[in-house]
Amino acid sequence: MGGNEQNFVNNAFETNWISPLGPHVDGFEADLASYTGSKHVAALSAGTAAIHLALILLGVERGDEVICSSFTFSASANPIAYQGAIPVFIDCEESTWNMSPVALEEALKDRIAKGKKPKAVIDVHLYGMPSHMDEIVEVCERYDVPLIEDAAEALGSRYKGKHMGTFGVLGILSFNGNKIITTSGGGALMSDNEALISKARFLATQARDNAPHYQHSHIGYNYRLSNIAAAIGRGQMQVLDDRVKARRANYDRYQRFFASVPGIRPGPSEPEGMFSNRWLSTIRVNPAETGGLTREDIRLGLLEENIESRPLWKPMHLQPVFEGSPYYGDRTSEKLFDDGLCLPCGSNLSEEEWQRIEESLERIVQGKAVVAAG
Ligand SMILES: *Cc1c(COP(=O)(O)O)cnc(C)c1O
Repeated sequence: MGGNEQNFVNNAFETNWISPLGPHVDGFEADLASYTGSKHVAALSAGTAAIHLALILLGVERGDEVICSSFTFSASANPIAYQGAIPVFIDCEESTWNMSPVALEEALKDRIAKGKKPKAVIDVHLYGMPSHMDEIVEVCERYDVPLIEDAAEALGSRYKGKHMGTFGVLGILSFNGNKIITTSGGGALMSDNEALISKARFLATQARDNAPHYQHSHIGYNYRLSNIAAAIGRGQMQVLDDRVKARRANYDRYQRFFASVPGIRPGPSEPEGMFSNRWLSTIRVNPAETGGLTREDIRLGLLEENIESRPLWKPMHLQPVFEGSPYYGDRTSEKLFDDGLCLPCGSNLSEEEWQRIEESLERIVQGKAVVAAG
């Protein structure tokens, strides 16, 4: 927390605006709109809920196909299954670790040739890195398939100066506890199309028709953010840019640390025109160049020091739950899952914690070098 969240929450208590909704929800939506440049924003209970509503708004129904990045967290793809639709997974490119525009076009061509034009494309900006938006948007427009941007990990990231989540027909954000800012749990749906966002608000509050009694002509959802959670969000918006700075500094520090270690490379550097919030700091480990040291050696070595690190996301096309789903690409994500690691990179790492991490990494890297030399 940055400090001011408590004041916003106190204000909610003093004015007795607890839930549902309230002035902080409106304020948080306005803050998000002015920060990202999106014209309309609906604050929701989760990023997952935002993706689910996006699919409903685009008319995704049972048996439809929806294209989705394979290299991502399962929440990007689960809402496709909520709708009874079929995910079509696209692998990533080396330069951003995001959806390959080449594989996307290949998939669109092939699905359309098979008589199954996908209803939407969900493109994820993984670990905060923007996708190649010029190419992705161009392909989606050429094949006339609406784009949903999953910017859950990319608040604060920009492509050619424009915020992630504002390129597609719809964009989603997450304020889960692990994201760059948090409302303890929450998400948002963004669009320049006012009708879509007002329909999202309607569906997210149980789809109540305009009548004095409770009348329903649509299936509704309980997906709105509470006034208390939004109060936390308003305070978090004041420190968002500091969080981005801290995360970027983490990446830079790891980059300096590993510069002299052969075979260990930090996650992708920013292609031209891209600005990443560096939500997570990652590395790839090539045992052929490290003297045999693997990703798992590093992960387990850190664990011995009680320092947690994690393999990169396991691609969706390898997940048991999505087995048999169509897949397009060159298996880049499988290599990343094999040799990639997320390192400690909270926005609040202290200098002592950094020293512990660096000393542990030093020992792990040196130890292996000695063994290899011996
Ligand atoms: C966190 C996350 C989500 C889901 O957001 P929640 O708010 O946790 O529901 C979706 N997609 C990606 C890529 C995420 O990292």
